[in-house]
Amino acid sequence: MRDTSKHQGLRRKLADVLERKGITDRNVLNAVRKIPRHLFIDSSFEAHAYQDKAFPIAANQTISQPYTVAFQSQTLEIKKGDRVLEIGTGSGYQTAVLLELDAEVYTIERQQELFKKTSLFLPKIGYKPKRFIFGDGYKGLEEKAPFDKIIVTAGAPYVPKPLLAQLKVGGMLLIPVGDETQIMTQFIRKSATEFDKKELGDFAFVPMLEDKQ
Ligand code: SAH
Repeated sequence: MRDTSKHQGLRRKLADVLERKGITDRNVLNAVRKIPRHLFIDSSFEAHAYQDKAFPIAANQTISQPYTVAFQSQTLEIKKGDRVLEIGTGSGYQTAVLLELDAEVYTIERQQELFKKTSLFLPKIGYKPKRFIFGDGYKGLEEKAPFDKIIVTAGAPYVPKPLLAQLKVGGMLLIPVGDETQIMTQFIRKSATEFDKKELGDFAFVPMLEDKQ
């Protein structure tokens, strides 16, 4: 597991690309400059690691496009110590960005193979979420609720009720909603019963599936 000055140079360029595409959050850009994304994908595809593209990983899943990760991370406005629930651990790259932003992260993955792989890999390179959970993100994580932020990194056909219910008042759910392509949708909890909803543009994710595999 090597990280060279060449990799670092490629990451600086990737951060510049993201900045040109509209990412302004310093901390998010610094996380992109710091995290060795090439270690999150198969080494034979290393050349693709620092292009602004999604890429296939194990179990028919993808590592999200860097712009998408940066956009979701920036939109979440993470404050140090925020309790964050992530649905769709996947490669763990988004998880690493959240940890660089000093969030306390709980992350759920429904694919056993990815769950095993990523829960071993991330701590090895120094990223330690509070908890890796093998389970169904549609249910959220009741026993650790309420959360300051909930981020969904798979395309959801609808907004799961438990995720809204597990937000703190003032908290935010960021979820791509739709079938073929998704609309990034932000919910801010205003009170026990009221949510503000905003739509933040079109994205493409692999589908959020029900139940574990
Ligand atoms: N943040 C990840 C994105 C991976 S793609 C990364 O950048 O690598 C989306 C992930 O969501 C996949 O790993 C998929 O298995 C997972 N997923 C899909 N439906 C899920 C569900 N109901 N609960 C938890 N994870 C789910």
